[in-house]
Amino acid sequence: MTPSGSAIAPEDPTWAGVRDRLRARGLRWTPQRRTLIEVLSHADGHVTGAELVERCRAIDATTTPSTVYRTLDVLEELGLLRHSHAADGREEFHVQPAAIHGHLHCIGCGTTWEIDADEAAALVTSIERRRDFAVDLSHLSIAGRCATCVSARADR
Ligand SMILES: [Zn+2]
Ligand SMILES: [Zn+2]
Ligand SMILES: [Zn+2]
Repeated sequence: MTPSGSAIAPEDPTWAGVRDRLRARGLRWTPQRRTLIEVLSHADGHVTGAELVERCRAIDATTTPSTVYRTLDVLEELGLLRHSHAADGREEFHVQPAAIHGHLHCIGCGTTWEIDADEAAALVTSIERRRDFAVDLSHLSIAGRCATCVSARADR
């Protein structure tokens, strides 16, 4: 999906009032921030910070990564975004995820799957009980090999 360059859909409730909410956190509503919100309003799934910087630069070449990352931090504090980590540790952003979830990352083909709370429940409950450790499901990332990659290796 590429940014269309159109304005933020005013009916999109996720981004309603974001300008005032950012201002309340001491961030001025600058053209760069406006561009970032526009890019985010067209993004779905998982996007890395670098991809967001690139998409912003396609609209506004003067976009600076530091502004993008600082704004992403504040948007996450406001609950509009959540980040997780890919297998290599880099941050991936989700625009207001429908539900908090963890991830499986295949180290063979690079595919990512979401693990929902139900699927992770046994592991999360066990860790919470035995270690008195509150698990942040969105930071649960498990690396391994998917069925296709396992059988490709076995065939060799
Ligand atoms: Zn993190
Ligand atoms: Zn795979
Ligand atoms: Zn995810």
